[in-house]
Amino acid sequence: MALKNSNVLESHWERPRGDFQPSSKKGFTWFSLFLILLCSSLNVHAQALESSPKLESSRKIVKWGRLELSLPRQISPGQAFSLRFSGRGASRVRVRFPLEGFETLGSTLESPESVKKSFVLGRARLEDQKNIPLELISQYEILKLSLPLEVEKKEVQQLEFKKTEFLSINKNRSAEDFKLGKIYGLSGSRAWTEPFAAPVRGRITSPYGTPRQYTPGTPISYHSGIDYGSPSGTPIYAVNAGQVAFVGHYAVRGNITVLNHGLGLYTAYLHQSKILVKVGQKVARGQKIGEIGSTGLSTAPHLHLEFRLRGVAVSPLEWLGRVMP
Ligand SMILES: [Zn+2]
Repeated sequence: MALKNSNVLESHWERPRGDFQPSSKKGFTWFSLFLILLCSSLNVHAQALESSPKLESSRKIVKWGRLELSLPRQISPGQAFSLRFSGRGASRVRVRFPLEGFETLGSTLESPESVKKSFVLGRARLEDQKNIPLELISQYEILKLSLPLEVEKKEVQQLEFKKTEFLSINKNRSAEDFKLGKIYGLSGSRAWTEPFAAPVRGRITSPYGTPRQYTPGTPISYHSGIDYGSPSGTPIYAVNAGQVAFVGHYAVRGNITVLNHGLGLYTAYLHQSKILVKVGQKVARGQKIGEIGSTGLSTAPHLHLEFRLRGVAVSPLEWLGRVMP
């Protein structure tokens, strides 16, 4: 879809927020350019960290019969987290997320005593406002828990779309969500063993999770990924090992590739100018899979990267640079 109102899109979706634009005013020197660029990159970095939900650093241990359970003390909307079990029977623990209607056995960790260690990945949606209930089911009993959800008030970004434009975008997006929802339903065993790597050698120009309103009175939508603004043709790399689950062209998402990393985790690469992989193909971490473009609902070249866990868009910064869990 080609949108005519390009300035609006650009100002909200492309321009790095709080960024410095080097100018050629009087007194400008190469040293000041260096300082400006240094400040600029530090600023974006600080912003990226700020926009990330609290990492899982703060966890608590709960004794449960012969088992030990490690879980985050608190989570934020849009955060992925892990529940880890250790002790005899750890691999037989089942976890149920009543809000999802999802139940699973723990996946074993690759360690010599793997049968005594397992984990399950969970997530909170960006729209969630209440604590996340959990049910842990062992051979002998059921433990009901509730993970405290810390909802932070964020300023809603107001976009200046016409109501008709919003309705058209929304219709296309819903149709895309429906089709992609079927792909995200697939799963498999964990394909990754290394930390997740950045998809682009460039910086993040728009953070994850910003609430947006297309026009007054319409529902709030959230920025479901992070944007890397880089010139068209810039290589895009797979963030980790996986298998190509989908490639296609959509009106809103443009040229999109979806990788399946197993355990219900997918990564999606949007707005590409070129897709270099085929469905079913296995990809390695850091393998070039496409090129940055501006296809779909976009007016300047950028990569929109999404992490989807059981269909829900979770914060990419939670995963990048780490082996999860
Ligand atoms: Zn985006």
